[in-house]
Amino acid sequence: MSPFAEARVDLDVISANVAALRERAPGSHVMGVVKADGYGHGILPAARAALAGGATWLGTAFVEEALVLRRAGIRVPVLAWIIPPGAPLAAAIAADIDIGVSSRWVVDELVTAAEEAGRPARVHLKADTGLNRGGITAGEWPAVVEAAARAEAAGLLRVTGLFSHFACADEPGHPSIAAQLGAFHEALEHADKAGLRPEVRHLANSAATLTLPEAHFDLVRPGIASYGFSPIPGLPGTGLRPAMTLSAGIAVVKRVPEGSGVSYGHRYVTDRPTTLALVPLGYGDGVPRAATNVGPVFVGGRRRTVSGTVCMDQFVVDVGDDAVEPGEPAVLFGPGDDGEPTAQDWADVLGTISYEIVTCVGQRVPRTYL
Ligand code: PLP
Repeated sequence: MSPFAEARVDLDVISANVAALRERAPGSHVMGVVKADGYGHGILPAARAALAGGATWLGTAFVEEALVLRRAGIRVPVLAWIIPPGAPLAAAIAADIDIGVSSRWVVDELVTAAEEAGRPARVHLKADTGLNRGGITAGEWPAVVEAAARAEAAGLLRVTGLFSHFACADEPGHPSIAAQLGAFHEALEHADKAGLRPEVRHLANSAATLTLPEAHFDLVRPGIASYGFSPIPGLPGTGLRPAMTLSAGIAVVKRVPEGSGVSYGHRYVTDRPTTLALVPLGYGDGVPRAATNVGPVFVGGRRRTVSGTVCMDQFVVDVGDDAVEPGEPAVLFGPGDDGEPTAQDWADVLGTISYEIVTCVGQRVPRTYL
């Protein structure tokens, strides 16, 4: 672990973001989405912060992530929605984890596991309404619904939820949004006719929670917004605030002459005598190598740019004639209050999304919590 670096997470900020999202969807439950180690913020602290902000459900991609929550004593309903072959379904049933079902074979395996466990599996059937990723296609939906209804009648399965996921909710007005809403209503109607009475029907990710009340149904599933980022950058009035600040103490300061090539490949060459500061974070910590010569960094009270190639464990910043000392913090991103960049700024220069910037902060960087 780099002793000089930290990803500081303000848990009250996560709680406040979740509370703000809850106000956006007043008639719905909020599921705190804590997959991928809580988008890099730490699965358990993020989960507890989301619950403190009013979330009543938690969501993960994999059963193994949901089991981490259960082992920590978290008892609220948890949904895991990616079920690869070999997923620990018996453990999921024993731990009361809701399983997202995208394929018929998962129903069959859950029925077998439920028979062995002597208790019903809790499932959310996932309709593919147009994302064409996970989910049950419209063609397969009737057969899967009917198989689930039969297993429910046999006491082996309980359909606690019906859900789907948007492809383009972050592009308000995109024609696929209305099409997916319509397809979801059709899937719900079919399930209703087959006698399924789920506790929760859900469709909205962060973007839909923020912009599409007609998609809120019984529960909303905001992920990135809980951590402080709008999936629609620049959307006004969200009241969201980034929870994570990534920083490191400068490890080396040196004076170099004009014409000095900096870091691997000499991709940056000084155009005057100048001071270089070494920041001990690199692509091994999730700072993308693509940030070479473009990543924004706050050092010595000013925003600057990564100078030269980002290495595995370090990169350099040209600080000119400013007096910078070893141990002084270099802030890569934070809430932006003091002039430091945000993860959205990093995403913008790298042509990616805030999700990737915060989620990829490496495990070598200690998380500290406020
Ligand atoms: N629901 C599902 C099924 C997801 O896969 C995700 C994230 O990918 C989310 C909700 C949360 O999405 P977002 O972070 O855009 O709010």
